[in-house]
Amino acid sequence: MKKEIYRNILDGNTRPCCFYCEEDHPAALDGYHHYEGKLYPDDEILTCKNCHAKITSDQNNLPTKSRATHDEAYYLVTIGAHLETIGKNLKECGFVRAENDRGY
Ligand SMILES: [Zn+2]
Repeated sequence: MKKEIYRNILDGNTRPCCFYCEEDHPAALDGYHHYEGKLYPDDEILTCKNCHAKITSDQNNLPTKSRATHDEAYYLVTIGAHLETIGKNLKECGFVRAENDRGY
């Protein structure tokens, strides 16, 4: 377990989980992701390895210059990747909720 996760537990959050999918298995958590890039080290969210990999994969499809300078293209792709991940999870929650409302 990474030290950031221990820090989260010690700060009173006894169930650290991924910001996007709520994965909470310690082995699946990847640590804190700089969602605005490493130029803003204080802006972090806890992610699982799976969600972090999806967002990073999209960012890595950008030219090196965009990734290095965090230009407008970098932010557009990063925000889009965040929204895509959140949107997918919201849709899944909605379908589960609909199934639960049917009494299954
Ligand atoms: Zn996740």
